[in-house]
Amino acid sequence: MSVLRALLLMAALTFAGGAAADGDDAKLPFTLQGDWRQGALLIGHTVPGNQVWFNGRALSVSPDGDFVFGLDRDEPAQAELKVQLPGAAPQVYRYAVEKRQYEIQNINGLPPKMVNPPPAVQQRIANDQRLAREARQHDSPRRDFLQRFIWPCAGPISGVYGSQRILNGEPKQPHYGVDVAVPVGTPVRAPAGGVISLAEKDMYFTGGTLMIDHGQGVASAFLHLSKLLVKVGDVVQQGQVIALSGKTGRATGPHLDWRMNWFESRIDAQQLAGAMTAKP
Ligand SMILES: [Zn+2]
Repeated sequence: MSVLRALLLMAALTFAGGAAADGDDAKLPFTLQGDWRQGALLIGHTVPGNQVWFNGRALSVSPDGDFVFGLDRDEPAQAELKVQLPGAAPQVYRYAVEKRQYEIQNINGLPPKMVNPPPAVQQRIANDQRLAREARQHDSPRRDFLQRFIWPCAGPISGVYGSQRILNGEPKQPHYGVDVAVPVGTPVRAPAGGVISLAEKDMYFTGGTLMIDHGQGVASAFLHLSKLLVKVGDVVQQGQVIALSGKTGRATGPHLDWRMNWFESRIDAQQLAGAMTAKP
């Protein structure tokens, strides 16, 4: 290949974040920001009017050409983007997803009814899960996810994304949030703008719970809150105080649990917000 062609190919691969694209087509019809790593959120840009699919799912493309997708905690090693220009055949680009190692965390001494909920609360738990699932399905045209995410509060990190919790010796579902150890009553700020998609004062596991829809399937959730200061449908700005932290629901102590999703895929909020430098 010519030197020019090689340079073009290098430039294209840089834009694509180390793409293992099919063939050596120099000119990709999109750019991407983010890592091909479990728990990552990737933001893409293409020419408006192009169609994009991630692992077969059609993505919303904004009028400016922005699209977004996330890689789950257990995202398989191979992923694919498909891009179709108007009137052209779709092109497929394949990527290797970096696998992560997750912590194992043992928590003992919990009241047995919180580890294995009594049958009487199964209906309540199912209802909570349905509400959260419905909120995560929103595919709104907002583009708040393009903002640089900030920490909702500052404090020591006491739990991380992906860790497997073993409660009283029984393996439970992985922990998807980042826990910030803060006293009850600490103001919780919106890490990016959005619209409130769930506001429940008393969910069984998560206590006072809020969700923000940041657009195109990207959502934040805040758990164990002591007080909610917004309601469903409220539009919030980045940095706005939306709640006070607490220890409600199945919390072992006061902390804020911040989770992020792209639809049902669990995203690592800590990676998105980066280093906690100053008090928000
Ligand atoms: Zn937590």
